[in-house]
This record gives sequence, structure tokens and C-alpha cells, in this order.
Amino acid sequence: MIEVKNIKKNFGKHSVLKDVSVKVEDGQVVVILGPSGSGKTTLLRCINFLENADSGRLTIGNLEVDLKKSTKKEILNIRRRTAFVFQNYNLFANKTAIENVMEGLVTGRHVPKAQARERAEEALNWVGLSDKFNYYPAQLSGGQQQRVGIARAFVLDPEVILFDEPTSALDPELVGETLDIIKKVAEKGITMIVVTHEMSFAQDVADKVIFMDGGIVVEEGTPEVIFSNPKEERTKQFLSRII
Ligand code: ADP
Repeated sequence: MIEVKNIKKNFGKHSVLKDVSVKVEDGQVVVILGPSGSGKTTLLRCINFLENADSGRLTIGNLEVDLKKSTKKEILNIRRRTAFVFQNYNLFANKTAIENVMEGLVTGRHVPKAQARERAEEALNWVGLSDKFNYYPAQLSGGQQQRVGIARAFVLDPEVILFDEPTSALDPELVGETLDIIKKVAEKGITMIVVTHEMSFAQDVADKVIFMDGGIVVEEGTPEVIFSNPKEERTKQFLSRII
């Protein structure tokens, strides 16, 4: 289980997260929706300590940490249990696909190189890139780069994968294949939090949908309830604009 409690984050005077709490059960896929600027990415980044929250607590499995005052060791422990898939892939440009996937295993997890290579090959095969091991990011399409990004997260066997708008930088014709891979990850039973604007993905895959606006969770529920019978006016307005 992963739980974020009462997280707050300001950028200067701008209060971007105003007391947000989110709970995700093991194996659940939670989709976070909301207008641009509502704090979705900041929430994900705070969970992985890519951003320092001003307050809040985070529990992953049996580990609970203070998001503001955590020690280096706690941060490392949280990072070991989480993996992040970035909107713009964030691959190392000077490393091949296989090296990108091996990197976290070798430097973060101290897995011996030969073993890391074997696991990375398996992960790249699994995302359909068996013929691209030695390609550099610049030689791959956006969709292929994101599949490397997903393999890199998946290979770490994390307790939760955080996806930050994983398809929003892709050309429309590459979105479907990438969402299919993310669905495959979900089918493996990995806990996932996904920030996305892909409503049909949310409808098909999410166990729970959270709607954020203005730094708060406005409403949450099953996709059936959120998409067909939302209670809050702000949710209704957002959905009527984008569906
Ligand atoms: P969303 O993902 O919902 O689009 P974000 O979490 O990216 O929202 O951003 C929420 C708000 O916080 C935006 O107004 C954005 O400009 C601001 N923000 C995000 N990151 C920073 C930062 N590093 N410095 C200052 N402001 C930021």
C-alpha cells in the first residue's frame, strides 16, 4: 500500500499542493486527472523526492517517512521502492537502450553487470524492443524511447511506478502503442499512479480516478462514478470540456 497524507507544497507564494492525501492499495492503478497547473506532477515528484514537500507523510509498505524531514537513508529507501516514468523520457543520451535500462540496477541496486544485462534484455524484449538494444535514444522514435523508459522502471521491480503524463510528448500515432505497454505493466499487478489526459485509458485501466484542481483533491472514485456520475461541479465542467 502507498499512502500520502496531508502533503503541502508552495513554490514561493504559490500554494501548489494544499493538504493533499491519496491512498493506493497494493496492485491498484490510480489515475490522476485535472487541468494543467493543478499540482498533479508536483504531487508525483514529491512522492519520489524529486521535489521537497513542505509537509506531509508518506507510507510505502512498512516504511513511513516525513516528507519534509526525511533522512538521506529514508529517501534512498523510498527511491528503492519507487520508479518514475517521465513525460520527456529522461533517458541518458550517451547510453544505448540496454545501458539505460541497466543503469539503475548497476548503480542504484548494485546488481552485477552480467545479471543486470540479462534482466535489461528481458525487460526490453517485454516492451517489444528486442531489436533495439544497442540504439541510442536519438535513433529511436518517441514511442520507443518511452518504452525504454518503462522498461527501465519495470526492471527495478518497484513497489509502485509513478507515470507523469507518459504519452503527452508523443505524436498521436504513437500514443496507443505506449498505452498498450502501460496496460501490460498494470496487468502484472504492479501498483501504479498515472497522471494522464487519456480518458479512455483511465476508463479501461484505473481502479480509482482522482480529480485534482487548484492544489486539492476535488473528488475521487471508480472510473464508472467519476465519468458517468461525478458529484462535484468542477469535475463535471472539466470532463465536459475534454470528453
Ligand atoms: P500539473 O501537473 O497539474 O499541470 P504542476 O504540478 O506541474 O501541475 O504545476 C502546478 C503549479 O506549480 C503550476 O502553476 C506550475 O507553474 C508551478 N510549478 C511547478 N514546478 C515549479 C517550480 N519548480 N518552480 C515554480 N513553480 C512551479
